[in-house]
Amino acid sequence: MKQAHKILKEVFGYESFRYLQKEIIQNILNKNDTLVIMPTGGGKSICYQIPALLFDGLTIVISPLISLMRDQVEQLRQLGVNAALLNSSLSQDIYRINYENVKTGKAKLLYMAPESLAKEEITSLLKTITVDCITVDEAHCISEWGHDFRKDYRQLGNLRKNFPSAVCVGLTATATPRVRDDVIVNLNMVQPQKFVASFNRENLFLQVLPKRDAFEQTVDFLKEHKNQSGIIYCFSRKQVDSLNDDLSHQGFSTRPYHAGLSDEERNRNQDLFIKDEVQIIIATIAFGMGINKSNVRFVLHYDLPKNIESYYQEIGRSGRDGLRADCLLLFSYADISKINYFIDQKENELEMISAKAHLNSMVKYAESDICRRNTLINYFGETYQTEYCGMCDNCLAEEKEMVDITIPAQKLLSTVKRTGEIFGANYIIDVLLGEESDRIFSNGHQKLPVYAIGSEFDKKQWHTFVNQFIRKEILTRDLEFGSLKLTKKSYDVLLKKDKVLGFIKEPGPITKKVKFSAKSGDQAYDNELFELLRKKRKEIAEENGIPPYVIFNDKTLTQMAAKLPQNESSLLGISGVGINKLESYGNIFLSVIKKYCSQKRSQIFHPGKKTESISRQRLKANSDLRYTLIGESLNNGASIEELAKEYKVKLPTIISHLERYVNEGKKIRIEALTQRISLPKEKYAKVFDAFKAEGMSSLSIIHEKLGNEVSYEDLHLLRIIFSVTRDI
Ligand code: ADP
Ligand code: ZN
Repeated sequence: MKQAHKILKEVFGYESFRYLQKEIIQNILNKNDTLVIMPTGGGKSICYQIPALLFDGLTIVISPLISLMRDQVEQLRQLGVNAALLNSSLSQDIYRINYENVKTGKAKLLYMAPESLAKEEITSLLKTITVDCITVDEAHCISEWGHDFRKDYRQLGNLRKNFPSAVCVGLTATATPRVRDDVIVNLNMVQPQKFVASFNRENLFLQVLPKRDAFEQTVDFLKEHKNQSGIIYCFSRKQVDSLNDDLSHQGFSTRPYHAGLSDEERNRNQDLFIKDEVQIIIATIAFGMGINKSNVRFVLHYDLPKNIESYYQEIGRSGRDGLRADCLLLFSYADISKINYFIDQKENELEMISAKAHLNSMVKYAESDICRRNTLINYFGETYQTEYCGMCDNCLAEEKEMVDITIPAQKLLSTVKRTGEIFGANYIIDVLLGEESDRIFSNGHQKLPVYAIGSEFDKKQWHTFVNQFIRKEILTRDLEFGSLKLTKKSYDVLLKKDKVLGFIKEPGPITKKVKFSAKSGDQAYDNELFELLRKKRKEIAEENGIPPYVIFNDKTLTQMAAKLPQNESSLLGISGVGINKLESYGNIFLSVIKKYCSQKRSQIFHPGKKTESISRQRLKANSDLRYTLIGESLNNGASIEELAKEYKVKLPTIISHLERYVNEGKKIRIEALTQRISLPKEKYAKVFDAFKAEGMSSLSIIHEKLGNEVSYEDLHLLRIIFSVTRDI
């Protein structure tokens, strides 16, 4: 394992293993068959790549898509690892070179599609060499229950028989037990050890907004993500095309991606996106499977996804580099009927029922007002311990004051009742507002006593009432037709006059308010320098015809812009800088950093036009300075509880502001934190040791490591204390 650690550091440039990586590598090195189930971005590749470098013989990697293989091979080459790809898409010359590399034992890894295994040339090549490991990437493809089953994967079981001394490794991000068992059987795995990582992606910020003016909401969201890469998912091709037109007219850098385009155009658009030439891809669900791009900073669902599985998979394409990514879903009830219409076209009744149940769960998720991460993770059968994740809209929602909304509830419920429980929200609200529409007149509903009794609120507000009533189950919505219906509880409100409490104002976008959480793995960095480094990275990428993130990912660049390394040895200390990359690119990036620093220094000593110091600019860049105010008040004597009251937010929100405050390098009044910690002081050291060993990015790992004994709130507070005191 010492060797494995050395490779992690020297080749990959990483300081420590992530959760389970060490155990998995150990297991593979011991030649025990291994099944790895980890979400996208969890760090599966290193698990077989490090053993591949330690084995004498070859590691075969079976992967379903040529674009993924190319990407992996390119990434390995950048790290100085000899990896080969054998595929019919290669030119004859390149194919020969790769072939020879494998034959002479120079290549440590060989990437192939499953189809290639049947080729005579390949089988005879493999007979002449030692194979130590067979890795099957996207292993769910081997299972009929997997969402993208591939027949060719079925031959892999035989491959196994030809290399009895090779260890077999399966990797997938699909967690269902059925798929898991299928993979084990079909790969002829022998008593495999299973490693299942958590499906919680802590760096994804989850948010749902009621869809009002979707285009305007999208433009607002995109303006918040200037210069960033992202994906917008739409329901239909038509929607993709029209949104693409409208957004590009507004000056956004976008390209469409859907099954109606030619292969050539699709590949071109994908390629432009991967190379950071185009910032936004607008796509149907077809997009994303074949890309490894690590710096996707946002995913926007313009329409409702069909089920939670697809939603999770689609948002999972963002934030692979571990930095924060924003996931926004625009939710409207009209979308439910659209999806239902398609479900109704299904011939098989069982499929239809199951699709509806899945849709129902998706709607529940969108309507929910508890922690989204909680709902999502629990859906996948994992128990999520904390009720507060600090990285979703519901957790960060300011505690609005609940008011008595019994009267509007009664008005709305009786309108639903008097119109026969067959109309959707829009119609009911029109009646309440006394709209003079043909539809209302032809139904004679202008004569009802409820007609025009709701004009004290506007349409938007009535819609938020409807959502709240559905959540409270005093109203329900027929998923098939969208009509509103009463429930048992409705009558308690109508007859017994049960009190209904709720909110009057509608939720606004959160991203603006809270742009940071220590959980997201972000740290304060100099944005101006980051942009310069990005520009340089793009130049090099263009010269070499490779995607920019293959050179260094965004996380590595942000660390450079935070730590401002001035020489090779401090550059090596940055995550993602290994020996080979240091040799290839070290000097280029160092010179950008040094030049920038000396410019800044001269500006400080010779104030001219631009006199702002780096930290001032940083402050300015964050228009929302609430966390600074909160940090300062705490230092001036306020307690966490007092601050929560003053800002009308939950305690954890204050704590996450404080995390941000100390991450900016500020000091904090530690007694104010220890006051709230219930763990006895003599046990702090145990927690700090855990931070040292496991890092600070995932509290769930720490929680588990400490036997679930320390509460999440304590862990949050101790993390702050640890990060302020460790430099002392
Ligand atoms: P997956 O295949 O599970 O989707 P990857 O193997 O592509 O994930 O890893 C996601 C990202 O995390 C990559 O940029 C990878 O280099 C990085 N990564 C993996 N392991 C570590 C580690 N131990 N420390 C830091 N970064 C890591
Ligand atoms: Zn949450």
